[in-house]
Amino acid sequence: MKRRELIGAAGLGIAALGLSACQQEEPAAAPAPAEKPQRFNWKMVTAWPKNFPALGTGAQRFADIVTRMSGGRLNIKVFAGGELVPPLEVFDAVARGTAEIGHGAAYYWKGKVPAATFFTTVPFGLSAQEMNAWLHKGGGQALWDEAYAPFGVKPFACGNSGMQMGGWFNKRIDKVEDLAGLKIRMPGLGGEVLTKLGATPVIMPGSEIFTALQTGAIDATEWIGPYNDQAFGLHKAASYYYAPGWQEPQAVLELLINQAALDQLPDDLAAIVVEAARSCNADMLDDFTFHNIQALQQLKNEGVEIAQYPEDVIAALKTASEQVLDEFAAQSDLGSRIWASMKAFREQASDYSALTEKALYNWR
Ligand code: CA
Repeated sequence: MKRRELIGAAGLGIAALGLSACQQEEPAAAPAPAEKPQRFNWKMVTAWPKNFPALGTGAQRFADIVTRMSGGRLNIKVFAGGELVPPLEVFDAVARGTAEIGHGAAYYWKGKVPAATFFTTVPFGLSAQEMNAWLHKGGGQALWDEAYAPFGVKPFACGNSGMQMGGWFNKRIDKVEDLAGLKIRMPGLGGEVLTKLGATPVIMPGSEIFTALQTGAIDATEWIGPYNDQAFGLHKAASYYYAPGWQEPQAVLELLINQAALDQLPDDLAAIVVEAARSCNADMLDDFTFHNIQALQQLKNEGVEIAQYPEDVIAALKTASEQVLDEFAAQSDLGSRIWASMKAFREQASDYSALTEKALYNWR
């Protein structure tokens, strides 16, 4: 019997007798022992090094607030990338149930779920605010759920980098031809766009970027934005910092939950998980925005040369991006439905932002 029913039955009995408990002469029956709330201990695997700025600390914040809000009924222990499973195996670990929950980025699992790429970022795509609007109000979440449902995994947005930077170069990019022949560290669809313009995209983990750039093994690299780029010391290995990041106008960080584990939670704990993800989604964007603003000033004070792509280079990148996206979307029915939905929203959002935030930024 549930506790609520026990209390209800006892209350009814006392009322029927017209007596309060303290007036009873017979010793009251010993109170039923309170039902012990069920506790859940979850493992959370992440794609990040321990306490990695914004990403690792964001995942830890999620775990901490779930534990606090649930009064310890749902405890989440966070594992850095490689501690329990390698960073790029977070999706598999959650799908298998090795861990109940994971934190990473959808484009890391594109080998398994090609359409996942859309749920991190697309070149010249939505801004952070627009991406959140599309996911949470514009049908994006349902498509994301559909992509992961065959694996028994439920995704949530849980963090966003905001707009990234264009990357670090050791030579100026004054015309489209200057990209040809360059080895540029750039993962995802952005890298495929570079291929169309004659550059060679290179994929390597963040930890190897500095040395590769310094020794000339790569000619250029993108990473995230001033906050994380400065932490890696990339300004000490390259001459020009290009702005902004056409390849990643935002990037969603993803929370993955094993669906069977989520289904076992009582309603209140499930609600805590969902709302904690929403809270951390917003908080990480605040964190990135604040620290990027600070770090850019520091980089400029240290004499870093900020460069911007010429308009014809951006135009060529944009044309190549749309080709890459259309080709990529056409590879599956789900991919084409996702891109059609996102593209339609991007068009409407462009009309709106041109009249609103774009105007504000220009006035300022
Ligand atoms: Ca990036």
